[in-house]
Amino acid sequence: MLYIGSHTSYLKDKQLLGVVEESLSYNSNAFMFYTGSNQSTLRFPINHELRDKAHALMKENNIDKRNCIVHAPFIINLANDSDEDKYNFYVNFLKNEIDRCIELDITKLVLHPGSYTNLDRQTGIENIAKGLNQALDDKEGIELLLEYMSGKGTEVGSSIDDLKGIIDLLHENVKDKVFVCLDTCHINDSGWDIKDFDKFLDEFDSKIGINKIKCIHINDSYNDVGSHKDRHANFGYGTIGFDKLINVVYNKRLDNIPKILETPWINRNEKNTYAPYKFEIEMIRKKEFVDYINL
Ligand code: FE
Ligand code: FE
Ligand code: ZN
Repeated sequence: MLYIGSHTSYLKDKQLLGVVEESLSYNSNAFMFYTGSNQSTLRFPINHELRDKAHALMKENNIDKRNCIVHAPFIINLANDSDEDKYNFYVNFLKNEIDRCIELDITKLVLHPGSYTNLDRQTGIENIAKGLNQALDDKEGIELLLEYMSGKGTEVGSSIDDLKGIIDLLHENVKDKVFVCLDTCHINDSGWDIKDFDKFLDEFDSKIGINKIKCIHINDSYNDVGSHKDRHANFGYGTIGFDKLINVVYNKRLDNIPKILETPWINRNEKNTYAPYKFEIEMIRKKEFVDYINL
């Protein structure tokens, strides 16, 4: 079964209900959102009435919460512990974010592993595992998904070996709560041609286990294989292209795993800017490219 959706906006006055309404307007049956700004740790209390209305609307429209995802803000960086106060702040913020997910009754949380900056990659890997061991130790009912990254700057998680390195260092009770979120733009930019996606999955399966993959971000890329840039392009408009992305979406080995679009909004001019998701989801369902941007 195809579960497809997109990034959506979580706004103060509509919260999860707004997310579900926006998703339905794109004909999605999956979605992802930040519980506030993706760039800051500012968060407001969860309104339970809106939450319950949102879950009722999901049920009415057959949206299974297993296909709904929260993305943690970018600023959490577990890879670098040079500043102890900062590191503890990130671990605590992650704990709070997990609690917010549980309160919202959304069980999947995507996290960027982090950047090692002035340290080295192996130390970064060890720091991430240390932070996850602390943050997840006593948490139940949450699946934390480490995102596969493009390798921009000193990002950790831009190879299967990086992710395996982190997972191998987790305590047994934490390991069961940690999974992986792939991202086609990031895989491309990290150095894998998406035409070799099955080879990528083979390697992933032998090193980590394919059952650890719980979500995949479907983005085209503006840049070439191995560019380490991380600039998402609209579906079929980038260097990966429509056919290779369709093959990922319909890959039998990832059937039933939610596919989330994080492609950029279309910006024709100041007054005419819109989300691409309704168009992209229709193209994906029909497996047919339509140049809707230039129509
Ligand atoms: Fe991400
Ligand atoms: Fe992503
Ligand atoms: Zn990205």
